[in-house]
Amino acid sequence: DWIDVTDVVQSAVDRTRKYAPGRVIETGIATDLPLIEGDGVLLGQVLFNLLDNAVKYGGEDAISVYARRDGGDVLISVTDLGKGIPTEDLDRVFEKFYRRGKPDGRSPGTGLGLSIARGFVEAMGGRIHAESPAVKKRGTRIVMRFPAADRSRTEPR
Ligand code: ATP
Ligand code: MG
Repeated sequence: DWIDVTDVVQSAVDRTRKYAPGRVIETGIATDLPLIEGDGVLLGQVLFNLLDNAVKYGGEDAISVYARRDGGDVLISVTDLGKGIPTEDLDRVFEKFYRRGKPDGRSPGTGLGLSIARGFVEAMGGRIHAESPAVKKRGTRIVMRFPAADRSRTEPR
């Protein structure tokens, strides 16, 4: 299927605003994005998972969501200003069942969200990674990159 990223990102944000009405979510979602190939419902699930993490671990400050074109790719990012992820854990958080910190005092969760997100994103031909400045309490950014679909292939000659 062809995915209209603008629509999918905007609906995931709307859904998060309903379930976390106290959180400010700033957006910069381009409206002229090329289509990408994949499953829009799965992409929506992935985004909702990233937004759920930003709500759970992202502290009080605004969350920002961007979608833009970068050459032949579409970039989507979710950024929070919470406690961040230490450099040595940036890739481990995508492992199945991996949850940071001591078992008590954690927010509820299964540790599956990001591993499922990576599986879905890679199945759509995309990439996903986490960034967090190596400074305490400076937040987390999750970036996804998808190749823009070559629509000319599907157009009648
Ligand atoms: P689930 O998503 O299944 O409810 P979860 O949120 O613990 O559970 P993941 O979404 O896979 O699982 O995240 C794995 C771990 O990565 C989290 O437990 C948390 O320690 C860390 N993490 C994820 N997102 C953030 C974030 N935005 N800021 C800080 N830590 C994060
Ligand atoms: Mg999660």
